[in-house]
Amino acid sequence: MRGEVEIVRGHRIDYQLYKYLLQYFSDGDLTRMFEAIRKPPSRYYVRVNTLRVSPEDLVSKLRERGLEVFMDEHLKEAIWLPIKGPNRVPSARKIVIADKRAAESVYMGANLYVPGVVKFEEGINRGDEVNVVAPNGEVVAFGIAELGSDEVGRVSNGVAVRTIVSVYSLPKVREIPEYEMGLFYDQSLPAQWVAHILDPRPGEVIVDMNAAPGGKLSHIIQLTGGRATIYAFDRSPNKVREMNERLGKLGMTGLYRAEVRDSRYLDVDKPELVGSVDKVLIDPPCSDMGVRPRLFDVKTMDLVRSMSEYQKQFIRVAWKLLKPGGVLVYSTCTIPPLENEDNIMYAEELGFRVVAVSIPNASGGLVEKYRDSVIRFYPHVHDTPGFFIARLVKPG
Ligand code: SAH
Repeated sequence: MRGEVEIVRGHRIDYQLYKYLLQYFSDGDLTRMFEAIRKPPSRYYVRVNTLRVSPEDLVSKLRERGLEVFMDEHLKEAIWLPIKGPNRVPSARKIVIADKRAAESVYMGANLYVPGVVKFEEGINRGDEVNVVAPNGEVVAFGIAELGSDEVGRVSNGVAVRTIVSVYSLPKVREIPEYEMGLFYDQSLPAQWVAHILDPRPGEVIVDMNAAPGGKLSHIIQLTGGRATIYAFDRSPNKVREMNERLGKLGMTGLYRAEVRDSRYLDVDKPELVGSVDKVLIDPPCSDMGVRPRLFDVKTMDLVRSMSEYQKQFIRVAWKLLKPGGVLVYSTCTIPPLENEDNIMYAEELGFRVVAVSIPNASGGLVEKYRDSVIRFYPHVHDTPGFFIARLVKPG
């Protein structure tokens, strides 16, 4: 059977994936889930760099700047800023088309930077009022052009449109001086639980198999005070370079060992690690169906299947690296059980045992077997991105 289903405006999935998801969600739940994915959560979370500042001190510094900031009810280092909206966006006569990624940031209040521009309508002058439009035609903001149509092709960076009113609004987090000073890292609440579920300890040997851009890695470093042997692997040289820069800003240079590696072959390429690791984190590439806000997307069953097979390869290698008694944490930012619970079942076939974990304000597994042992966040239920976390142990 071919064809696609549009669940909500802009979000299409192929018929096979639709049928697959209907085994787990009602039609109404699917609609509510994708509606939520179109919007940001109501809270924008950042993680305090506790190597440099206490959560209390950072909150008061940010409040002195006039920002509205709150502490999470459960995670001490998690603080958040409210995301306001939807706002009514005024119409302008002229339009600027942004690429998808840039449009999703502008939708939340960021300025549009030159690399994110797809097209400036002809005849725009510096200072003109414009609408910023996503590639699917959706208006994401009203702003002022900082460049003219004839200039935009000649520069490679800088602000192209200064955003005045966006659909959702949030202070420009990366422009806050404390961000530049490395006092916090922007990271969703579910992602901030992952390092806690791993529970890294000083003195341990820890492997992060999919480390870039370094969100969970830098959290592991914080939780161990940098006193563990932490290997950070990622296949992408560019992402590893950016990760090192970003962690440098957080004051973490020298507290971990980064290498560009295809982690599917670590047992071969890093034989010294086989059987000698206390903890492994797998945070693999996935079909990304929990990421929000997403204005439009197309997902297919083929993508989900191939991701699931790809992810299993990391699990096989983690089994080889871990010592008896060692711990594996597996997390994704996607929804289908094939990439989540089914891979946990696969890990159990290799010999891993699931260790039951639970955290406040989250759900358990989507399949009966893991109802009380793994963690799920749903966009339409928990006001967070969609997320999955499981903890496993290699029996001793
Ligand atoms: N853990 C990161 C996010 C990881 S996203 C954080 O918390 O910030 C998934 C990462 O897996 C991407 O950076 C991607 O480059 C990497 N990746 C994909 N295939 C890989 C492979 N075969 N080996 C190692 N890393 C891989």
